[in-house]
Amino acid sequence: MLKKPLIIGNWKMNKTPEESDDFLQKVLDYEAEAKPNCEIAVSVPFICLSTCIDKSKSSPIKIGAQNCYFEENGAFTGEISASMLSRIGADFVILGHSERRRYFSETSEIINLKVRSAIKNGLDVVICVGESLSEKEKLIADEIILMQTKIALFGVDINSLSKVSIAYEPLWAIGSGDIEKIEKINEMCEKIHRVVDQIYNKGASATMKVLYGGSVNIKNLSKILSKANTDGVLIGSASLVSDEFLKIIEFASKHT
Ligand code: PEP
Repeated sequence: MLKKPLIIGNWKMNKTPEESDDFLQKVLDYEAEAKPNCEIAVSVPFICLSTCIDKSKSSPIKIGAQNCYFEENGAFTGEISASMLSRIGADFVILGHSERRRYFSETSEIINLKVRSAIKNGLDVVICVGESLSEKEKLIADEIILMQTKIALFGVDINSLSKVSIAYEPLWAIGSGDIEKIEKINEMCEKIHRVVDQIYNKGASATMKVLYGGSVNIKNLSKILSKANTDGVLIGSASLVSDEFLKIIEFASKHT
């Protein structure tokens, strides 16, 4: 791993603004004192965005959303657009999380529209790709990952790749306590880099990051980060408790 590791916490539908304020204060204190050698990002519920953005303003900690809509504005009750996120100062947005694909019927084509809208509005994007257990058993995981990656990046300009991270998250690993085999994670991350090079040109993928997500915790982090093709991690449940999240940051920082 040559780049500074990117550590992203995804809080999902957890925490109130008060709780997010408290959590972020601990991360800010730690960051100011330890100056960790990794990039830290937290993806928070919409209602916590303002609190977190205001609080982290003069720090390197990045704050993002967990979804957005692809239209700029209009009659789309309940939706939040990428331009709205950009206007309130969000740094990034997670798109295509498997929970969005599964529970909210988001297709790869919809995710592609969201990716393009987010990039157009100046946001960084974290695109999640991953195979289900049944796809893994049918030996089509590679095809699923490559297809999801290609569709998500359709129409995205090569110059925007530095704004893109792709998180390889096998669906069966999320929240299960089990991570994918390290060799497989490494292989998938390498394949994602290779397909991006194929879409654009050789070396194009060097500017983007490829992450792993799915039951990452302090115990398995060293194995994941030691692999050359993994530029960081996307963390769900282990990012909800500040002490645990800070231990992960501390470890990742020393590991570079
Ligand atoms: C996720 O939902 O993106 C995730 C990685 O969750 P967990 O770490 O809890 O498996």
